[in-house]
Amino acid sequence: MGFENIKGIIFDFGFTLYYFKNATVEKYLDCYEQGLTRCSQKLAEMDILNNRSEERRFRSKFNKKRMKSFQLSRKTSEEYPTTDLFREVGDEMRLYISDEEYSQIATLYHSCEEEEWIPYKNTADTLQRLAKLDLNLAVLSNHPHHITIENMLKSHGLTKYFDVIITSASFGKRKPHPAIFKHTLKKMGFGEDEASHILMVGDEYADIMGAHRMGLQKIFFQRTFEFPFEKEIPLDNYEKIKEITEILNYLLVNNGDPGGI
Ligand SMILES: [Mg+2]
Repeated sequence: MGFENIKGIIFDFGFTLYYFKNATVEKYLDCYEQGLTRCSQKLAEMDILNNRSEERRFRSKFNKKRMKSFQLSRKTSEEYPTTDLFREVGDEMRLYISDEEYSQIATLYHSCEEEEWIPYKNTADTLQRLAKLDLNLAVLSNHPHHITIENMLKSHGLTKYFDVIITSASFGKRKPHPAIFKHTLKKMGFGEDEASHILMVGDEYADIMGAHRMGLQKIFFQRTFEFPFEKEIPLDNYEKIKEITEILNYLLVNNGDPGGI
C-alpha cells in the first residue's frame, strides 16, 4: 500500500499549536518592551538597580544584546537563551544576582508574551484525539526561554499530551539545525532509522526544511499572519493544512484507519 506508519508527531509551538492574539510586529515588540519594564521594576524593588539611570543602562544594554543575538541566531542556528543575556548584562554592570534570579527575570521578560499566545480553538481537541492513538507526541520550539513554553502549555492544560518538550533554549541550537531534530527523536525514544515514521508539523522554513533534511514526514501549517522576513521553502511537493484538525485526515490516509477518531 505504501503507507508509512506514523509512530510520533513533533509539533512546532508558535502559529502551529498556539497563535499570538491580534498579531502585529508592533504588538510583538511592544510586548517585549513591557516585559523588560517588568524586569527593571523588579530589580529596582530588589534594590539591585538603584536609580533611573541604572535602570536605563540595564535596559539599553539588554536590548542591544538581544538584537545582536537575534540576528546571529538566525544566521548560525545557535540559540542565545534570555537567561544568559541577562547574566551578561548583570556581570558587565557588576550586579549581584543569583542564577535562580536570572532565570526568574528571564521568565518575567517573557511574561507579557506568555499572556498573548493562546491555543487555536481546535488544538486541545486534536491533541486529545491524537493521544488516544498510540502516538508519541513532542513539542519542538525555537524559543530563547524554556520555562515560558512550559508555562504556556501548562496554563492551558496541554502539558499532559506531550512526552517531550524541547526548546532551542534548552538544547542550544535552533531549528532547522539537524542536531536539534536528532536530539528530539532520541528523547522521544526513536532511532534515526525511524525518522520516516515521524511527522513534523510547523509553519516555517525551519520546521519543514529541518524535517525534510532528516527524512521526517512533514506538514506545513499555513498561518494567515505573515512574518516580515519569510523564508521561502524550496520544495515543490509538500503537504499543507490550514486547520490543525486536518492532521487527523492525514493520519487516516497515511496510517490506514487508526480507528476511533
Ligand atoms: Mg512556528
